[in-house]
Amino acid sequence: MTTVYVTHPRYVEHDLPGHPEHAGRIRAIWQQLDTTGLSNRLGRLEAQPVAEEWVAAVHTRPYLDLLNKVERIQDQVIHLNPDTYVGPNGYTIARLSAGGVVMAVEAVLSGKAHNGLAAVRPPGHHAMPGYSMGFCLLGNVPIAAHYARQVHGIRRLMIVDFDVHHGNGTEAMFYDDDGVLFVSTHQYPFYPGTGAADDTGRGRGKGFTINIPLAAGHGDRSYTALFEQVIWPAAARFQPELMMVSAGFDAHWADPLAGMRLSLTGYAYLTRELIRMADQFCGGKIVFVLEGGYNLEALAHGVRNIAHALLGEDAISDPLGPPRVDREPDIEPLINRLRSIHALP
Ligand SMILES: [Zn+2]
Repeated sequence: MTTVYVTHPRYVEHDLPGHPEHAGRIRAIWQQLDTTGLSNRLGRLEAQPVAEEWVAAVHTRPYLDLLNKVERIQDQVIHLNPDTYVGPNGYTIARLSAGGVVMAVEAVLSGKAHNGLAAVRPPGHHAMPGYSMGFCLLGNVPIAAHYARQVHGIRRLMIVDFDVHHGNGTEAMFYDDDGVLFVSTHQYPFYPGTGAADDTGRGRGKGFTINIPLAAGHGDRSYTALFEQVIWPAAARFQPELMMVSAGFDAHWADPLAGMRLSLTGYAYLTRELIRMADQFCGGKIVFVLEGGYNLEALAHGVRNIAHALLGEDAISDPLGPPRVDREPDIEPLINRLRSIHALP
């Protein structure tokens, strides 16, 4: 059994120098995986663009028409909104990004790989059904989740989003759906402004969204406690058949955009806990998907640590060390509140 690693050299074509979500992010990851020899130990696949039918499963027709139009007419980088740019062939690159996630999921569910890593961009968890948002063009994880359900009959899919921002796009696409358990840890209040603890889903989806809004300053100890007392019991109750992780490294203490205090060692611990959950509940079927992370060292070593963990290797790389400030706000009140809202055992 192998770990599938999906990426594509064309991801660097989506670029805007000076923008936090620039092409140097994926280059830093490639370099880290190549120089450590990890690329050779992983089963590397080149992403293919996702078919538009799968994109249309989570996005509106007018939005796809807009992306197609922008792809045809523009010869320069334009902004779809103040945060989100799209350049030449932008829609093609976005479909290569979502396609990379679909391929990783396909490899795992068809038994060709044990687990997977999709090192893709542009990221996806803020993309809404009808518009782009927060550097994201297409809902990469939701598109692949839809594929897993339609093609492989997955009935219970758990998505854990540990990017520092609320995964509002992913939430929106499954908010009234009881087949997807969406769990998001995020700084709050913060961009994009959503993700309150009381937002738990709608209709049949009530209780299948678990938002974990964190004050700035939480780090390894708080996240560890949350995983133990909230995420583990929620996973045990849901019994997922597949796990997907929206892996953003912007909750690292050195990230320039956000104010959380996770270390790379803390991130590696969370990664291993998620793999342990997948081992326990769904035969190890888990796919990690790149989202944000704007300190290139934290990003590259974070992804490297995911690769080590997926391969079953003990190594953890943490050149940045622990945060300078060791104190964290008290996490217990939030844990108690979440355990009560979600009636966790
Ligand atoms: Zn983020």
